[in-house]
Formats: sequence, structure tokens, C-alpha cells
Amino acid sequence: MSTEKHILHYETSAPKDKPAADDPLAFGTIFTDHMFVMDYTDGTGWHDPRIEPYKPFLLDPAAIVLHYGQTVFEGLKAYLNEDKEVVLFRPEENMKRLNRSNDRLCMPMFDEKFVLSALKELISLDKDWIPDREGTSLYVRPFIFATQPYLGVAPSKTYRLMIILSPVGPYYKEGVNPVKIAVESQYVRAAVGGTGSAKTAGNYAGAMKAQEVAEAEGYSQVLWLDAKEHRYIEEVGAMNVFFKINGEIITPSLNGSILEGITRKSVIELLIDWDIPITERKVSIDEIMEANRAGTLEEAFGTGTAAVISPIGELFYDGEKCEINHNEIGELSLKLYETITGIQTGKVEDPYNWVVPVD
Ligand SMILES: *Cc1c(COP(=O)(O)O)cnc(C)c1O
Repeated sequence: MSTEKHILHYETSAPKDKPAADDPLAFGTIFTDHMFVMDYTDGTGWHDPRIEPYKPFLLDPAAIVLHYGQTVFEGLKAYLNEDKEVVLFRPEENMKRLNRSNDRLCMPMFDEKFVLSALKELISLDKDWIPDREGTSLYVRPFIFATQPYLGVAPSKTYRLMIILSPVGPYYKEGVNPVKIAVESQYVRAAVGGTGSAKTAGNYAGAMKAQEVAEAEGYSQVLWLDAKEHRYIEEVGAMNVFFKINGEIITPSLNGSILEGITRKSVIELLIDWDIPITERKVSIDEIMEANRAGTLEEAFGTGTAAVISPIGELFYDGEKCEINHNEIGELSLKLYETITGIQTGKVEDPYNWVVPVD
């Protein structure tokens, strides 16, 4: 392995203007002054870790990532807590998942502790960019891509790992609002044996068509069904999904095509701790529609870093509209939302040690 341990700093001499205090901070549109970069070369390993001014860079037109999509990413947030300390939520989990995604895409693994320390160093340097209004955060996007100029279909011999930072506004502008979801029975997101459990670009490119159709019909996202039978529920948009039926919480079991969400994992751990029955199993769309007809479908929600908890107010499937909890956020959904966001911002005690200080 290479000597990747020392991070060189090339700090900007021309800091950018920071957004105004009342800027809505539209998701993923504003970037901080610096970025982290590290390169990989076959035989040498990961090398030249550095923090540089945020800027565009050169990439060979034949770079493998542009043709065959060999690339993976992560998404997490840094928060300014009640005591104005910078904290992260379970970031080791993101590092582990990035390496699992790497492995699936035949990309080289990295030292998780080292990249997490680099991530903290970068956030520390740009910490004045972290917004402090209620609900705001600094979105952190680590990503890795194949850089070798080669048109043969084979794993690249060179890669780049980067981390960029983006201040983001609150996901919910006026309270946690339920969304309308179209059940997708034509397109699929991922198949067992494919890349659905990796955070890799192709999964998201392949999902855009269904999203576009659903949006045009007035839905905010789609509910994905399995690729084989188009019957079993997988995810909602780019979130994991949970249902509450007759007091029991049910979420699709990880089957190889579902992305293993860290919010999903946290929700399951909280429910176990609260002695609320939680089951991971196959769940069909017919079962959900049937429970709705029988009046036993009490709540449904998506989970992910961006929204934390996103209540589902309506499902549309096969010509039938299914309204959930009168299109209002459910009691348990709200409790989960308040607990997780409370832990993240330091308003609620963190007995699980999920929160990690940046410095
Ligand atoms: C990132 C992601 C999730 C949620 O993962 P979190 O770790 O909770 O943010 C769920 N599904 C898909 C497809 C994702 O890309």
C-alpha cells in the first residue's frame, strides 16, 4: 500500500462569497471553497491525498467513467448542533457502504478511517459554510470514479476519490408533509444480482424515466416493485420504505437489489429499542392495498439522509387510490422524525453514540 496518510493543503486565496443568511439553499447548488482529492494507480494504490480549492478539473474524453459508468458515491450531512459544534451522523457507516459499492463495481477499496479523517479535515476547514438555521445542514458528497483513458470494457487502472461540500436548506419548508406516490409497474430500478445495493450512478440514471412520467402525472415519486414479478415492494424513490399495519412495522428485507440505508438501519434499531414490533420480510403491493381496504394500514413512510422520514399520504396502483392516515403524518412517523433529527442536532440524547464530532 502507498503512503496516503499525509494530506497536503492548498488553500484558496480567493474565498467565494457565502450565501446570505436568508438564502433558501436549494439542494446541491452551492459548493464550498475546498474539496478533497486522492488518486489511485494500479500497483501504487491510493496516493497524493490533498485539499484544494473547489474547481473544475480535466478529464480525458476516453475516461472509463464517461463510457461505462464505473463510479460510486455517498451522501451524508454535517450539522451545527445546539452548542454550535459540528457533528456527523454515523459516518463510519457511509465509509463502509462506499467500500461495499466499490467492491461491487470492481473499484479499489480505500482505508475507511483515513478517508473519514480527511472528510472531517475538509469540513473543519470549510466550517464557516455550515448554515445554522433550523433544519439546514452541510451536505457531504464523497465519490469515486474511473479515470483511465481506455475504450475497452474492463475495470480502470486509475481512479479519483473526491469529497465536495454543499450547504443545504431544510428539506421540509413548512412541517413534515406527506407525499403522493405512484406505484411503478412498468419500469424497474434494480434486479437481484444487479447493482441495486450499490450507490452507483447507473441506478439513478435508469430511474429517471419513471420519475419523469410520475411527476408529469402529479406524483412526487414512484414506489419500486421487484424486477421479476413486479409484485414485491423494494423502495420509494431513492429511499427505503416502511409500513405500519395493525401496530406492526414492516419493511422489505434486504434482498440484494435494495440499497441498505443508514436511516433504515437507525429506524429499525430505534423500533427494537422502543419494543415496537418490526419485521423485515417480503411485502407485496397487493398486501398493502388489501390492508388499506381493510382499514389496517396505519402509516407508510420513506427513509433517507435527505428527508430523514418522508410520510406517504397516497399510493396510486392499478387504477386504485389508497389514502393513508387521511394524508397526514402518522404518530410513529413523527416520533421517528423528531427523535432522529433531535439526535442529529443535539436536542435529544444520543444513547447509541450515533453522533460523531468533527473536531
Ligand atoms: C442513499 C439511498 C437510500 C437511503 O440511504 P440513507 O443511508 O438512509 O441515506 C435508499 N435508497 C437508495 C436507492 C439510495 O440511494
